[in-house]
Amino acid sequence: MKMDAKQLIAAAAAARESSVSPYSKFKVGAALLTRAGQIVGGANVESASYGLTCCAERVALFKALTSGEKDFMAIAVVARCAKGPMPCGACRQLLAEYAPKAKVFIADTAALHRVRAFTMKSLLPSAFVLVP
Ligand code: ZN
Repeated sequence: MKMDAKQLIAAAAAARESSVSPYSKFKVGAALLTRAGQIVGGANVESASYGLTCCAERVALFKALTSGEKDFMAIAVVARCAKGPMPCGACRQLLAEYAPKAKVFIADTAALHRVRAFTMKSLLPSAFVLVP
């Protein structure tokens, strides 16, 4: 499966349209690419109890995992902010556990062609994982 960052960024931008962010109005979209070539999108969901809010990355990851997907090649995350939205610590932990080999593509929706790429290892070195 060839990894197309632009296609994945476009899928994240499309997923962002489903953002449920009535409080912050800060819409975030994410798209995960499986090894089989499937793309699973997600968007952030906010709660009146702010702490319950869930990021786009985790929504996409939870959707993919609970659909039986286990092997991820990349994730794209987009929002309207300078240089694009970096994953928060919670998302980095979950991605390090379930998508450790995934490339992470980040872009600002105002400049989707300007994609920054990271490895999970660079975003969360020495991640906490339970070794079987
Ligand atoms: Zn997050």
